[in-house]
Amino acid sequence: KAKIKVLTPLVELDGDEMTRVMWQMVKEKLLRPYLELSVEYYDLSLEHRDETNDRVTVDAAEAIKKYGVGVKCATITANEDRVREYHLKEAWKSPNATIRSALDGTVFRKPILARNIRPAVSSWKKPIIIGRHAYGDVYDNSEIRVDGPGTAELVFTPAAGTPVRRKIHDFSSPGVIQGIHNTDDSIASFARSCFAFALDQKMDLWFSTKDTISKIYDARFREIFAREYETSWKEAFQREGLDYFFTLIDDAVARIMKSEGGILWALKNYDGDVLSDMIASANGSLAMMTSVLVSPMGCYEYEAAHGTVQKHYYRHLRGEETSSNSTALIFAWSGGLRKRAEFDSTPEVALFADMLESATLETIEGGSLTGDLLLVAEPSPHNRKVDTPGFINAIAANLEKRLAQR
Ligand code: NAD
Repeated sequence: KAKIKVLTPLVELDGDEMTRVMWQMVKEKLLRPYLELSVEYYDLSLEHRDETNDRVTVDAAEAIKKYGVGVKCATITANEDRVREYHLKEAWKSPNATIRSALDGTVFRKPILARNIRPAVSSWKKPIIIGRHAYGDVYDNSEIRVDGPGTAELVFTPAAGTPVRRKIHDFSSPGVIQGIHNTDDSIASFARSCFAFALDQKMDLWFSTKDTISKIYDARFREIFAREYETSWKEAFQREGLDYFFTLIDDAVARIMKSEGGILWALKNYDGDVLSDMIASANGSLAMMTSVLVSPMGCYEYEAAHGTVQKHYYRHLRGEETSSNSTALIFAWSGGLRKRAEFDSTPEVALFADMLESATLETIEGGSLTGDLLLVAEPSPHNRKVDTPGFINAIAANLEKRLAQR
């Protein structure tokens, strides 16, 4: 059969270690045989980032802005160990952080559900997506360790005008102080990304903060979300029969544990950090989670939520067998292809993306499991452990069957 044509190039960001190995296999076994696909290729391997003084990461982000859709493999975030290991010029900034700041985005993480891998919370039938604000708060704080008695004050000095002061605390003994901030612009762009993503996924949007206690800071988030909803999204939400629902974070946590799922849950930076790990672990494996960066500029970057699976890579280099799970990498490609199909109006590309995902789930549900899944899958006589290429080959066989029935 003729290959399916993808009209516009996808921006491809290659990565490091075991995920780079799997990335190659996925392209070779699951994409190239079936798709006429051109890519704008950026090699974000640590060596190449070092060679280009990290220029390649900036160029890749620009290409995503230009073409609208990127797919990214996992990459090493350099630290001192990596500087020694790869003889780097410096510990380059995290590529994810560089791309996020160029695209001004929000990260959405969604569990991939297979029938034989039950979530730890029995009421969850549909995925719970986390939309995490990726700017400010405790990640960009100022802290002081107080050694003895004294007064802590919060002071804002306007560019023009008189300073504003608020007392924080009269210390009579040692303690600690922390100052955090956010900006209206960043909160509004976070809100817009969440409304757009909920609409795209046809899901209700929940947003939760602690505005009963934080009457200015958290309340500002709530006000901006409400303003955005009323002015720009309400009509479209009503047309699709979707809800926007604000509730206190403690109430939201209690409701989530009893809900069926099928919700986009928007969370402030810290809340999203903590709760997305809870959702991922309750769903079985890091490789059973998709991650997409949605930019208010209307572009999208699809990636796996996990890292480069370093330990498996060293085993692979020693020529030993590995059993790494490529599901999240495959879903990064299918997500990117589906978005490309939407932009290009090419339903056959969207259909291919659907088939690729169902072939992957069919493989898992049929009991061909990588090591991480074998630990959490429901026991069955069909369960057998497959190695890294074995898993991808089994998916290719299922995909082949589906395409033949097309
Ligand atoms: P990791 O996600 O690679 O591994 C964490 C644990 O989960 C390990 O036990 C690993 O074996 C397991 N795991 C993760 N993905 C798996 C898969 N596909 N199949 C089977 N098991 C899997 O995270 P780490 O070990 O903390 O970091 C390794 C490297 O990845 C670091 O250099 C880090 O900077 C980088 N990293 C990159 C990203 C990204 O690019 N998105 C995210 C996180 C970490």
